[in-house]
Amino acid sequence: MVKSAYISALKNPVFRTISKASENLNLESYVIGGYVRDYILNRGEAKDIDIVAVGSGIDLAEEVSKLLPGKPKVSVFKTYGTAMLKSGGIELEFVGARKESYSEESRNPEVENGTLEDDQNRRDFTINALALSLNEGNFGELLDPFNGIEDLKNKIIRTPLNPDITYSDDPLRMLRAIRFASQLEFTIEKNSLEAITRNSKRIKIISTERIVDELNKILLSDTPSKGFTLLHKTGLLPFILPELIALEGIDEKEGQTHKDNFWHTLEVVDNISKTTDDLWLRWAALLHDIGKAPTKKFDQKLGWTFHTHEFVGAKMVYKLFKRLKMPLNEKMKFVQKMVLMSSRPIVLASEVTDSAVRRLIFDAGEYVDDLMTLCEADITTKNSKKFRKYHDNFQLVRNKIVEVEARDQVRNFQPPVTGEEIMETFNLKPSREIGIIKDAIKEAILEGEIPNEYEAAKKYMLKKGESIGLKVVK
Ligand code: ATP
Ligand code: MG
Repeated sequence: MVKSAYISALKNPVFRTISKASENLNLESYVIGGYVRDYILNRGEAKDIDIVAVGSGIDLAEEVSKLLPGKPKVSVFKTYGTAMLKSGGIELEFVGARKESYSEESRNPEVENGTLEDDQNRRDFTINALALSLNEGNFGELLDPFNGIEDLKNKIIRTPLNPDITYSDDPLRMLRAIRFASQLEFTIEKNSLEAITRNSKRIKIISTERIVDELNKILLSDTPSKGFTLLHKTGLLPFILPELIALEGIDEKEGQTHKDNFWHTLEVVDNISKTTDDLWLRWAALLHDIGKAPTKKFDQKLGWTFHTHEFVGAKMVYKLFKRLKMPLNEKMKFVQKMVLMSSRPIVLASEVTDSAVRRLIFDAGEYVDDLMTLCEADITTKNSKKFRKYHDNFQLVRNKIVEVEARDQVRNFQPPVTGEEIMETFNLKPSREIGIIKDAIKEAILEGEIPNEYEAAKKYMLKKGESIGLKVVK
């Protein structure tokens, strides 16, 4: 009987195969990192498993493949000395145990072969350095030189070595610490947190792609404000999302104040995270108010205003996505659209007319439900009476959206009378008049003057055409 056996973590037959392959090559191998951590935390079936070989990870991968049914293809990454193969829907990553030393300018270290302990020393956190033996003599034994088990129990993020060195060597680890804290609801140990704060500006050497990966994971955690609060507290946020920091603070003029839009934003993100796992909708919540910093003004009559902040914010979304090398595709456009429309249903909620609802559906199109989700999450008033009233209003608007859409179908609005028909009816060449008539029909439908139907629209077209001096030719 071996000490601290975690054999139950190794039920998947692939572990015995790796064990056998290691024996064939006369080397030791271990499961390490995320798989072991997540097994102990009971976080569900893992999709990727990291194996460290004391020897060549690439050779081990090749040998494992030989022993597996169907001999899965091995992808070799020579520069990193790693290899990957897929078996039964699981990705197996193989790496040779190594020792690393870093230089100032880069997060790419000098690497040499090492022992399991060397390899554990280079891991980012004690909870990520846990290893389970795959070797015949002590299969399933936990090797935990930094007492990561205790940190897992106490929900603590701690670096194996001096945190200043760990974070300075590879500043991405600062973001990983915050991401794990947010994702797993752990606490970053005090020395670590201070080291992150001291080293925050080193984040500049990290590629934006890696940063965004971690940001996305923070955003996808149950309570993203946990991560963003830490990014703020450690001074990392200004290097990553200065647009958010610009929202912080409350100004006062003539006794009038406005809310702190940074902390408000974090509340909105937490709210929306209770109702959606959609990453892009969460991004929209994070960015919905960014236009408020550059548009903030004090007006003698109106008090604090953020005139056109939705429009300015939508433009900032593009710049921000571009700077962070995020996709400039329909996802970005979706976030822009949400930001642009983020104040609309709020206005609606006090006077829910059919035509206002039709316009909302028309403008938001297929995203009307997402928009409602965002705007409802935007309710952060601490006045419980108002809170109830706003949410009740949202329910009213939602019902009305269903009702109006069932009747009028404006969600994917197609003009009931085509441009060609208008041209033929009045014998027109492509011209301004066609646009005028089409627009008038659309307006009449949205205003509820006519139903969204061909006959009614055609009648309206004839009337409108005549009113601007056109003659019917057929
Ligand atoms: P997840 O898969 O949920 O992102 P993970 O801990 O498995 O979490 P990976 O990026 O898959 O993260 O990395 C696998 C393991 O490699 C980690 O558990 C950790 O031991 C190590 N590791 C990853 N990135 C770093 C890093 N920047 N510095 C040190 N060790 C790292
Ligand atoms: Mg992983």
